[in-house]
Amino acid sequence: MGESTLVSLACSQCCQRLEADALWNTCPACGGVLLAQYDLDRARRSFRPEALRDRPWNLWRYAELLPVRDPLYRLTLGEGGTPLLAAPRLARQLGLPKLWLKDEGRNPTGSFKSRGLAVAVSWARELGARAVALPSAGNAAAALSAYAARADIPAYVFLPADTPPTIVRECLAYGAHVFRVRGLITDCGRIVRRLAPLLGWADLSTLREPYRAEGKKTMGIELAEQLGWRLPDVIVYPTGGGTGIVGMWKAFDELAHLDLLGTERPRFVLVQPEGCAPLVRAFHSGAERAEPWDDATTLAPGLRVPATIGDALVLDAVRRSGGTAVAVSDREILDGMQLLARSEGLLVSPEAGATVAAVRRLREAGWLAGDEEVVLFLTGNGLKHPELLPDDTPVPILDPDDPLLPRRLAADGHQH
Ligand SMILES: *Cc1c(COP(=O)(O)O)cnc(C)c1O
Repeated sequence: MGESTLVSLACSQCCQRLEADALWNTCPACGGVLLAQYDLDRARRSFRPEALRDRPWNLWRYAELLPVRDPLYRLTLGEGGTPLLAAPRLARQLGLPKLWLKDEGRNPTGSFKSRGLAVAVSWARELGARAVALPSAGNAAAALSAYAARADIPAYVFLPADTPPTIVRECLAYGAHVFRVRGLITDCGRIVRRLAPLLGWADLSTLREPYRAEGKKTMGIELAEQLGWRLPDVIVYPTGGGTGIVGMWKAFDELAHLDLLGTERPRFVLVQPEGCAPLVRAFHSGAERAEPWDDATTLAPGLRVPATIGDALVLDAVRRSGGTAVAVSDREILDGMQLLARSEGLLVSPEAGATVAAVRRLREAGWLAGDEEVVLFLTGNGLKHPELLPDDTPVPILDPDDPLLPRRLAADGHQH
């Protein structure tokens, strides 16, 4: 196993350097997002394709480019190592023969939030945190609750009052302290920022804490490794706070420093729902930062993020990649979920359904050419959303002793 080569933190706004081995939130000088810096010359010695081959398929296989120094602190529930699936039927329907699906719904707790929180909780533990807290639209809370249980420390999670009940109960099942808040994730965040310093909790709000992005960046490393150390033409990413885009963009630069990638980069497609699209609006208006979105509503809870501290970083990455931003309706999101389930056998969360909707639009508009290699990040598992699964198709009840059963079913078109 590799060793962490973490050396410091750098503010993405004022460039101030901070000591790595301490619990920081945002930059103490300017409030900017802090990003982890590694000794890449040192990492290069052991982070080689041949060496990686023998490591287990969880995200700690990339230990050189992650925090956590003592391997005893590396919590794992088997996060990462998710399949990159070909999707021939969907590809044909969308007119994109080189389509790949990165199925992040296989992660522990059913979403890719487990990547960020495996890393952030492990590192907080190594630095001596005694309790952890965060605001969440749902999936981050579930992941925090699971990894805190694994680490044997209390978790405090703050969710909008209308979070899907399955996710609230999931957090309770892991033994977390769960609170529902009148308002949105941004209001939950205000509560955490007020209470954490007073009550001795480590605040793991995304991008206000530098390490969840490090965990999420492993999606980018893993994708490059699965494609044989190269990248696709386009990455389609359902975006809430944008931690994944910030993380993957950073990962590609780090891999280039290690000579595992060249200068080529995929174009990022940032997807948000029409009912909450602050980054899409900012992208198309040419703004460097995003104005908060009023009255955010969408059935994709992970995308109901009206404001993010990472806005400037996300917009910059999407623009520099040559990418674009698309808003899709809740109706299109449901259609996308249904298409993935019926044409490929993948039950995904609404956030993941949004990627299909975006690709369909971009293909029709000609922004995506038919010969381009496109990867959809399917960030969550549909089983987390029983409220969105079909309930309008009548399911027949059969009498096991009915002598006419074969004839009835044949008459209904079930003979093949
Ligand atoms: C949190 C979440 C997102 C958005 O992720 P960001 O990296 O914060 O933009 C997308 N999909 C699901 C399922 C999520 O839980």
